[in-house]
Amino acid sequence: MIRILKHFLVILITISIAAVIAFQFTAVQDLAAKLVVKAQVQRAIQGNTKIPDYDALSAVTCGTRSPIAAPPDRAETCTMIIAGEHIYIVDVGDGSVVNLRNWNIPFNKIKAVFITHMHSDHISDLADLHLLTWIGTERAKKLDVYGPRGIELVTKGFEMSYKHDFLYRNMHHGNILAPLEVTGYNPITVIQESIVFEENDLRVTAFTVNHSPIEPAFGFRFDYKDRSIVISGDTTINDNVIKNAKNADVLIHEAQSNEMVELARKELELNNQITEKLFEDIKDYHTTPKEAARVAKKAEVDHLVLNHLSPAPDGYIAEQIFTRGLSKIFPDWTLAEDGTMVILPVNSEKIEITKISR
Ligand SMILES: [Zn+2]
Ligand SMILES: [Zn+2]
Repeated sequence: MIRILKHFLVILITISIAAVIAFQFTAVQDLAAKLVVKAQVQRAIQGNTKIPDYDALSAVTCGTRSPIAAPPDRAETCTMIIAGEHIYIVDVGDGSVVNLRNWNIPFNKIKAVFITHMHSDHISDLADLHLLTWIGTERAKKLDVYGPRGIELVTKGFEMSYKHDFLYRNMHHGNILAPLEVTGYNPITVIQESIVFEENDLRVTAFTVNHSPIEPAFGFRFDYKDRSIVISGDTTINDNVIKNAKNADVLIHEAQSNEMVELARKELELNNQITEKLFEDIKDYHTTPKEAARVAKKAEVDHLVLNHLSPAPDGYIAEQIFTRGLSKIFPDWTLAEDGTMVILPVNSEKIEITKISR
């Protein structure tokens, strides 16, 4: 046995040394690069194979953290809704568009963006999302962005900041790849609770939540054929979420672990950092995981996904603390990771929880 292992080790070391030597030659480097590029192009052409090719309503968490902690594998808040052939993005925080790129999302299928409220962790990647839905995608019009009062100012601001970028890219790539007349955004202000979108068998309903002093702040309910997904937006525990999530298949609810916040506060206090006010401010402005479970139970949804995690847990122990006692209140829950995917096939009661990958 030891002799076989010795032989195996000698062969392994020889192959490794040979590989290191081989990679010093430019011809070998070029061949390796060609293979890598070929695989990347194939993946980009093929698109993401995890996106269902059958009729379904799906949600993918393209960003799962709040701004107060930043584990490396989590972007800020973003949820991608796939309703049949079309894609919609709800909130687009920092890093979320990198996720969408890495997953080879077909940007030409993105039909609209919905913004729950104008905190930076919900809008900061809007410019990158614009770019990727513009260049080479044959987008026929400006990017539709639904959001609360002020969305016009936000989109105008992005347009002003990127005016030169639009011109430069048009000058460089021309009208076919980068048509100037469709650059920018078409802001649609959501004034009050209402059905804000109805097209292609999809109905999107906006409802108000409590994220005071941010008013209004919205949640969104997506009904596609016989399936439904509700996104709470940022809110304290709120009866209006229960009302609007009633009997939905899936509720994606924000969650903040005050136990974890308290641990961080104490640790920082020991190190004399001035964060007391911040920690007091955020405590009464989000929903705890247990409260989110109570909302799911009262709304009688089939599955709860915790998202907009605050502070986003980094590792197994933190996840355990974050989700303590949840199952006793509501057993069917998932703690979102970047890429958590919920698939609801139409004409079915099935709920498939999986993970999108590159
Ligand atoms: Zn917020
Ligand atoms: Zn937020």
